[in-house]
Amino acid sequence: MAAYTDDVEELAIKVAMRFRPMNVRELNQNAENIVTFSDGKLDIQDPVDKKPKTFNFNHLYNPNSSQEKIFEDFGTDLVESFENGFNGAVIAYGQTGTGKSYTIFGQEETPGLCPRFIENLFSRVENSQSDDVSYQATISVYEIYNEAVNDLLVERKNAVQCHIRQSKNAGFYVTNLTFEVINSYKQASRILERALRNRTVAATMMNFNSSRGHLIVEFQMQKVRTEGTKKMQLFTTLKFVDLAGSERVSSTGATGDRLKEGANINRSLSSLGNVIYALYQRSQGNTKVIVPYRNSVLTKLLKNEIGGNCKTIIICTASPVDFSFDETLSTLRYASRLAFVKNQTKINMT
Ligand code: ADP
Ligand code: MG
Repeated sequence: MAAYTDDVEELAIKVAMRFRPMNVRELNQNAENIVTFSDGKLDIQDPVDKKPKTFNFNHLYNPNSSQEKIFEDFGTDLVESFENGFNGAVIAYGQTGTGKSYTIFGQEETPGLCPRFIENLFSRVENSQSDDVSYQATISVYEIYNEAVNDLLVERKNAVQCHIRQSKNAGFYVTNLTFEVINSYKQASRILERALRNRTVAATMMNFNSSRGHLIVEFQMQKVRTEGTKKMQLFTTLKFVDLAGSERVSSTGATGDRLKEGANINRSLSSLGNVIYALYQRSQGNTKVIVPYRNSVLTKLLKNEIGGNCKTIIICTASPVDFSFDETLSTLRYASRLAFVKNQTKINMT
């Protein structure tokens, strides 16, 4: 087994761009496909002036790309890194209805990255557990909505208010959050399903659309390895983040809760944009720029994942049709800028 080091490695965030197929509504409305793909490159045609714009991505997925392919490209590294002490994150960004939840969670027959990750993690853990190596993994599931955090592993009626705190060692963290110990794929999937149902129930009760909140599924793992009299301990975190829809929320006609909701989504997503822009400027040599993590709950909780100690993958999703051109272009620009962000990764030994 390789020795663990405490070297810090600078590592760019991996950015993937994924287009979904046209949906029934788009087909019924005779939407036009405006995106064409060739090796790592895509052209998108402006529906008004008909001029194409070109974008390049290291990880580009056309509408026919399967869930298997995405796991093949990212999954193994995700599981191995997690097991070997590296923090990780998979973040989905994009307009509502373009495949963020599909990519992360998927459906029964076409599971996404998160269920595949759990399945692979347990098959690895079961194979490598021994007298010398032991593991304990936990899951927590929560949602950021209107700048508050809701724990989705407790029933709403029993919910205790969660707060954001900061500590020297742990950085920003959520108080009063439930962590459930997981010990098999089946059991972990059941917990996840329950949490996702809580999200829907909460959404209905509070009369909000769940694509308006940011969902985080967080795994933590402690691995203890004994070598003779020496004990080595790793502590790792992996987050799957299903962000709220990136579309601009129109304020026309919005009042009361809706207005507040719109403002808060804009606040957290635009804060995320500002953090990314600051990191982008740093990558261009502007080292004095301050990265404004403190401006929203989302950016506080993603501090490690964006610009910190984490191997991060951001999957940006989009629709291939003319109606969505403006939103798609904005997502493409966002994704292009993200590719400049560098993280500082290291093995987390305690
Ligand atoms: P979001 O979470 O971004 O709002 P969803 O993941 O819920 O969007 O996707 C919207 C719909 O499109 C769902 O019915 C989903 O199954 C389907 N869909 C999304 N991406 C794909 C894809 N790459 N291939 C096939 N169906 C997809
Ligand atoms: Mg969704």
